[in-house]
Amino acid sequence: MRWPPAPWWFRVPSQLSYRLRVAEVVEETADAVSLVFEVDSGLVDRFAYRPGQFLTLRIPSDRCGSVARCYSLSSSPHTDDRLQVTVKRTADGYGSNWICDEVRAGAELECLPPAGVFTPASLDEDLLLFAAGSGITPVVSIAKSALAAGRGRVALVYANRDEGSVIFAGVLAELAARHPERFVLVHWLESLQGLPTPAALAALARPYRGREAFVCGPKPFMAGVRSALSTLEVPRTRVHLERFQSLGANPFERAEPVVAGEPRKASTVSVSLDGVVHRLDWPAGTKLLDLLLDNDLDAPYSCREGACSACACRLLSGEVRMLNNDVLEEEDLADGVILACQSVPVTETVEVSYE
Ligand SMILES: Cc1cc2nc3c(=O)[nH]c(=O)nc-3n(C[C@H](O)[C@H](O)[C@H](O)COP(=O)(O)OP(=O)(O)OC[C@H]3O[C@@H](n4cnc5c(N)ncnc54)[C@H](O)[C@@H]3O)c2cc1C
Repeated sequence: MRWPPAPWWFRVPSQLSYRLRVAEVVEETADAVSLVFEVDSGLVDRFAYRPGQFLTLRIPSDRCGSVARCYSLSSSPHTDDRLQVTVKRTADGYGSNWICDEVRAGAELECLPPAGVFTPASLDEDLLLFAAGSGITPVVSIAKSALAAGRGRVALVYANRDEGSVIFAGVLAELAARHPERFVLVHWLESLQGLPTPAALAALARPYRGREAFVCGPKPFMAGVRSALSTLEVPRTRVHLERFQSLGANPFERAEPVVAGEPRKASTVSVSLDGVVHRLDWPAGTKLLDLLLDNDLDAPYSCREGACSACACRLLSGEVRMLNNDVLEEEDLADGVILACQSVPVTETVEVSYE
């Protein structure tokens, strides 16, 4: 993740989850469906989103009550009236197969508001987009948004197993026809061309190497793109990655409040949130996000396991320890970015800011 420039700072507006009605289920390919949601007029502000952001859905389970899964919005806030996520079956996956098999129009799903930082700082800049398989979902939202509401040019390299597995083939062809001067679309089909190697990806990316890059797809694809962009000397700070992984923790359930084995010395923390500074006693071993929620502060979050960055904030002074971090890069850490859901206090006083 890269820390987004100030105007694009996003918030999950509340810890509350909401029930959204599925207005339509669209079969996109043999193994992918889109869920189109109806958002009540009273929730429109809560569900405002940036292109590239995701929803977290609660998926019921007889085994454990529920699991939480994130799904990127494939709709664009600039061109689509309704919110849409697109879910591709994962072999032996629980959540994705439940959605594809069980969800019908009229169903209601519990979800958290949009979150995520995989979103361009400006729709006016030139973009280089890479997607593979279901990784197209946030990327198509970015492409539609940039072409409709921005002035920049967009190049998209989109890899799939074969023609039948290309999600949004029609939407993308239409964008290409409507914006021939601004949109370059390159399909890569494994069935015809084999797996895309870093060298092949670098050759495709070379004309656009000066652009801000957004990458989403399976791990090996993302690794190949990273390697290609590094060969082309694209600065790491200009490469944005969205990793699709299942949440282990469940933000819809109450989290474990105290981490065992932490030193017993309590701290105090000063938190700047929504223009107000809050001073709180911070018990040892308590995660910052839990402390804030327990004090009824409207702090943003989604996964609660250090995987999604929705709870990112900035450490201004003092020291914290992060129990897990699957999303912040070295550059973020050097900038003082921390994940509230994983931070426990180290020093006696700590100062953080969400502004
Ligand atoms: C930011 C983000 C955005 C994403 N966007 C998309 C997207 O746009 N489209 C998309 O398709 N994917 C997306 N993903 C991936 C998605 O969240 C899931 O990881 C993916 O759908 C696979 O989930 P799954 O449950 O099907 O598979 P798995 O997670 O592989 O399912 C297996 C897991 O489910 C558990 N399990 C099995 N049976 C049960 C049961 N009965 N009850 C409870 N648990 C059970 C197993 O123990 C195992 O842990 C995104 C992920 C992230 C983090």
